[in-house]
Amino acid sequence: MTGMTSSARPILNRRLAAFGTTIFAEMSALAAATGAINLGQGFPDTDGPEEIREAAVRALRDGRGNQYPPGPGVPELRTAIAAHQQRRYGLTYDPDTEVLVTAGATEAIAASLLALVEPGDEVVALEPYYDSYAACIAMAGGRRVPVTLRPHDGAFRLDLDELRAAVTDRTRLLLINTPHNPTGTVLTREELAAIAELAVERDLLVVTDEVYEHLVFDDAVHVPIATLPGMRERTVTISSAGKTWSYTGWKVGWVTASPALVTAVRTAKQFLTYVSSGPFQYAIAEALNLPEDYFTALREDLRAKRDLLATGLEKAGFAVFRPAGTYFVTADIRPLGESDGFAFCRSLPERAGVVAIPNAVFYDHREEGAPFVRFAFCKRQETLREAAERLAGLRHG
Ligand SMILES: *Cc1c(COP(=O)(O)O)cnc(C)c1O
Repeated sequence: MTGMTSSARPILNRRLAAFGTTIFAEMSALAAATGAINLGQGFPDTDGPEEIREAAVRALRDGRGNQYPPGPGVPELRTAIAAHQQRRYGLTYDPDTEVLVTAGATEAIAASLLALVEPGDEVVALEPYYDSYAACIAMAGGRRVPVTLRPHDGAFRLDLDELRAAVTDRTRLLLINTPHNPTGTVLTREELAAIAELAVERDLLVVTDEVYEHLVFDDAVHVPIATLPGMRERTVTISSAGKTWSYTGWKVGWVTASPALVTAVRTAKQFLTYVSSGPFQYAIAEALNLPEDYFTALREDLRAKRDLLATGLEKAGFAVFRPAGTYFVTADIRPLGESDGFAFCRSLPERAGVVAIPNAVFYDHREEGAPFVRFAFCKRQETLREAAERLAGLRHG
């Protein structure tokens, strides 16, 4: 009796039939069973700022957010989100009509796709893509059209001609993600301008996942596509507190967009969770208002960790794509004489005591992603050092 009723009709509906358990569950179980260092799933192994945790405790004790918060999110948080967009990017949003608080970016993505996509609509997404995109497009009845980022001068880049060619009369929206998980690519202003021009020319909506907006390194700059000409009215911008403040369990996310788009997304969102994370919303309002030092220190800490792990991977024999953003590094296993990332990741805990994720899970064109694997570096320095030492053995073993 695996997944079938007596009438032989599958229990899981057709839209979701292709989606089994995520690779993260399989790899985390493998890490637990073998005692390997888990650089698979992207969550920090250290909690975020103490003062923000205390702000959550205070809200809980003071009875703020213990009952259903307002549908759009608590006013303190919506105001802080709008102020953040204004201060950082010069984007003006009305906290009452143009900001929506969600259960993490995950719900914002789901609600956006459920609200904006008709069955049969095409959604163009950058491949490799975050795993929830494919499932949410499928739940909305849409058809995903992947445009593949390919290695070019040490980074995964977008081919703008391919993007243009992917747009048809059935395309409803472009789903983009910058800084990009899993490749670490930060789309340049020029790339974003070309995407924006295409969106305006073909009258498309853009949903942009910017959860790593604060995690950019060296001279990379995060440019929200909503800042580009013609884009504010057609863009749903999504972000979240999980990555920026190292509280991935709190699930506080948000959408900023025009009143018409926010209203549409809220229509779907209200029937998913209605509301969530009451007391945490107050804490994240304070987090958004932390002084610039916090963001600088976060970036500096992660840049050092990136370099530690990337250098270790290079020494171990991988070809490394040093990321400009996010807390993931993608590595090519071919210099190690390997070509199948799935097989490589399944054997890595045994061979080296480390867990990574095969990038192929983020592709429709699995062969495009086959030789790449992803390591997370949002871990303690000593953990990353130990992982690098273990991986160094791969060269000879
Ligand atoms: C982690 C992640 C999310 C999910 O964010 P939550 O706020 O935890 O729901 C969404 N998109 C990308 C690209 C991510 O890496």
